[in-house]
Amino acid sequence: MKKACYGLGIFVIVAGLVGAVILAHKLGVTVEIVTSGSYYKFTETVSNRDWGTTIGIFVGVLFPSIVLAIILFALSDILEKLDAQATIIEKFTPLLKDMSNEALDKQILADGGWKCPECGKVNRFYTNECSKCHLKKDYIGKGRTN
Ligand SMILES: [Zn+2]
Repeated sequence: MKKACYGLGIFVIVAGLVGAVILAHKLGVTVEIVTSGSYYKFTETVSNRDWGTTIGIFVGVLFPSIVLAIILFALSDILEKLDAQATIIEKFTPLLKDMSNEALDKQILADGGWKCPECGKVNRFYTNECSKCHLKKDYIGKGRTN
């Protein structure tokens, strides 16, 4: 997606430049039909390049395409940064989850919770059964009887 945006930006600049040159070349000329002579009428077409119009058309075509290209480049840049961010989040989310789980376990233990000797799961003080392996709290230290 970001590469497509970048490629499209390049294409827009090239197309804009080529289009600007062609249009300015074609449309920057004024064609006049001049009639001359008093007895015989001669008509001829005279084409004059109007540099003001030529430059005006050139800039008028090229400028919007450059603006569009800049937008596409910026978009490609944003997408790249988002990609990098997503990678960072992907990397650190499990770590943060581990850290928060550890903190939560500490909190539960501080509140009078108990750690299951069978599976290591930290359970809240009001539970009589391990939420993971279903070991009864009463069996702790006595061993499993069932
Ligand atoms: Zn357990």
